[in-house]
Amino acid sequence: MKSKVYVKAAEFVGHPKLTDFKIIEQEVSEDLQDGEILTEAVCISPDPYTRVWKIDVGQEFIGFQLARILKSKNAEYPEGSLVLQQTGWRTITKSKGEQAWYTCDDLPKNIPQSSAVGVLGMPGVTAHYGLLTFCEPKKGETVMVTGAAGAVGTIVGQIAKILGCRVIGCCGSDEKVEYVKSIGFDAAFNYKTSDWDKALTEAAPDGIDCYFDNVGGKMSSTVMNKMNPNGRVAVCGCISSYNSTEPDMAPVIQLNVVVKCLRITGLLVFNNSDKKGSYNDLKKWLEEGRIQTRETVSKGFENIPQAFMNMLKGGNIGKAVVVL
Ligand code: NDP
Repeated sequence: MKSKVYVKAAEFVGHPKLTDFKIIEQEVSEDLQDGEILTEAVCISPDPYTRVWKIDVGQEFIGFQLARILKSKNAEYPEGSLVLQQTGWRTITKSKGEQAWYTCDDLPKNIPQSSAVGVLGMPGVTAHYGLLTFCEPKKGETVMVTGAAGAVGTIVGQIAKILGCRVIGCCGSDEKVEYVKSIGFDAAFNYKTSDWDKALTEAAPDGIDCYFDNVGGKMSSTVMNKMNPNGRVAVCGCISSYNSTEPDMAPVIQLNVVVKCLRITGLLVFNNSDKKGSYNDLKKWLEEGRIQTRETVSKGFENIPQAFMNMLKGGNIGKAVVVL
């Protein structure tokens, strides 16, 4: 069988360009050894980490996909099942399932199948694992989320609401602000048009106890000024600097960290997260209607780079997905 595969055509400089991506064809044999599976991608997940992952020119792009198992000699991943796997931006894949996270044959009926790369995929697991493990939010506390209208941010905010917190966030357009309020955020502001200090003071009159940081940079330094003593910060990402061509500068945070005894932890979902445990909690909340999901959908393998570039520029509300 022939597989279409994206490889890096040129190093990214600043925001990625269409000429940085190239599709090649690979021959994939349908003959399977014991333990192997042959899959065909159903949808591809454009994720920010693909921008900063070390991928040399000529190498395949890393990324998650939901795929249908066409053939299997692996009991864990039977023929016909849907599987979430980190096998990159490619159509046909033969593997031993090393990059598979789990099968997704029990998706809730009230959400699109592509949610398996969003709320029930890597971003949803990141939100669940990152918030619960590193922010440890308690009922009545205030949780601040940056990148609030995105794949991870929308889920962080909704989980924090389920836990009984006051949830505030910021994002890059008025439409996004309205959206996050519609899914339960108590307050939100457009960071492109607001005075951040004033907006945070209004949104969090009692200060911030937990900060789920998706963007880093100056915004995070500003949030630190509003943190309460013994606050917890989960550093999930720093997308404000992913496309920078010069080193980004931000006010120092150390005095706040020391004086307020803040606990700041970096997290990587690939490490110790209980992926299926997060999936099961999120699935239950989706079925109960306690979490809503939204996607910005592109169609067709050839549109993956454009969807990726749009997402990096804020063109998505909820999860950016490419349905093949
Ligand atoms: P999103 O769905 O949130 O999409 C990215 C968003 O980033 C854009 O929509 C845009 O929204 C925002 N953005 C772009 N440029 C800037 C900027 N200069 N300043 C502030 N915001 C910006 O992506 P994800 O939810 O998938 O990822 C969110 C974060 O989580 C990223 O930093 C990502 O790297 C990180 N992540 C980390 C993981 C881990 O294991 N540590 C796992 C998964 C994600 P807007 O319009 O609001 O600007």
